[in-house]
Amino acid sequence: MTATVSSVLCSTYDEAEVDAAVVQAIDHLGGIGSFVSPGMTVLLKPNLLTGADPEKAVTTHPSVLRSVARILTAHGCQVIIGDSPGAGTRYTPSSLKRAYERSGYAPLVTMAGVRLNEDVSHTTVSSPEGRVVKRFLIITPAVEADAIISLSKPKTHLLTTYTGAVKNLFGVVPGHEKSAFHSRFPEADAFSEMLIDLHGAVVPVLHLMDAVVGMEGNGPLSGTPVPVGLILASRNPHALDSVACRIIGIPIDVVPTLRAAEERGLIDGEPVIVGADPASLMIPAFRLPDTARPAGLLMKISRKMLARFQREGRFLLPYPVVVPSACIGCGACVRICPADAASLRERRAEINLSLCIRCYCCHESCEEAAILIRQGLLSRLILGNRQ
Ligand code: SF4
Ligand code: SF4
Repeated sequence: MTATVSSVLCSTYDEAEVDAAVVQAIDHLGGIGSFVSPGMTVLLKPNLLTGADPEKAVTTHPSVLRSVARILTAHGCQVIIGDSPGAGTRYTPSSLKRAYERSGYAPLVTMAGVRLNEDVSHTTVSSPEGRVVKRFLIITPAVEADAIISLSKPKTHLLTTYTGAVKNLFGVVPGHEKSAFHSRFPEADAFSEMLIDLHGAVVPVLHLMDAVVGMEGNGPLSGTPVPVGLILASRNPHALDSVACRIIGIPIDVVPTLRAAEERGLIDGEPVIVGADPASLMIPAFRLPDTARPAGLLMKISRKMLARFQREGRFLLPYPVVVPSACIGCGACVRICPADAASLRERRAEINLSLCIRCYCCHESCEEAAILIRQGLLSRLILGNRQ
């Protein structure tokens, strides 16, 4: 069945404007009563990453969480806000507390019926139809909730080129386990297949996207905020991502999660857009991350050539480089590295490229922007990439 994506203009994070836009976005899909019932406990799963100032567009904005929480509590639901921060952050009560405070979520507990998750336990959940993974460790609140609403952000991503509704769900995997998946699936295509399998284990009833401001460049942490001016929503995360990518000018062909979803038949034709016509918005195409591959037939062939060569040696891929003068020796990159390629020497990070699997988690973890991405030689020769 063709998926529906709701689209509502929202140019700022002013509470009243966000409230009106979120209500309308959900009403376009049948209203909150078509997703949850009174008495349910609903997990709101934002993009929390390590927690960051809301103005940086790294995390789902607290105004959006507040609006959805308001709608749910008015409907008689209990709300729990939960995510496992990624990027080298341990999944502990203290790291969660810090992330909530930094991202502006802490004040949300003053709302009746709303709490922030502090439980850092996890449970095994199966994904019977999974192609590459059939069992996942999942954070307990995502298992125990009666329903989950995912609240993502459209951003560029060094590994998967784009992160939105599908990639947002990776946050229900507890911190240390994320590194294991990066190690097991170092290439973006295989990693994306895993992400799609994850959607067989944990199935949000609704995917709402905070596209008021997105992120271009070397996301998901160190890119540049870009106003988009929309709240988007859908039951189908793949349809939502395909519409979001069209709006921000990222070709579907360069997004591995969308390529995999199309191949699995999870996007059935063009989604129907209800509400504001995104085509009327003059949003310049997002600048892709330095690791992205261009689209098109020639580039598809080039990608295959590149992948073939890359199997022969990872040194040909874009690689991380530490800027010693910017490094403060916090060790976040060392903790996240799934290949033990990053280490600290005299309070400065070092990367052993012969061990590095090019997952770019260290770049994602570095809040000091002390890790840059440089293009590999083959990538420059075949694809004409920058740098
Ligand atoms: S490069 Fe330095 S500042 Fe950045 S995460 Fe690693 S240790 Fe911390
Ligand atoms: S050093 Fe390499 S393997 Fe380790 S986190 Fe960075 S990109 Fe991934």
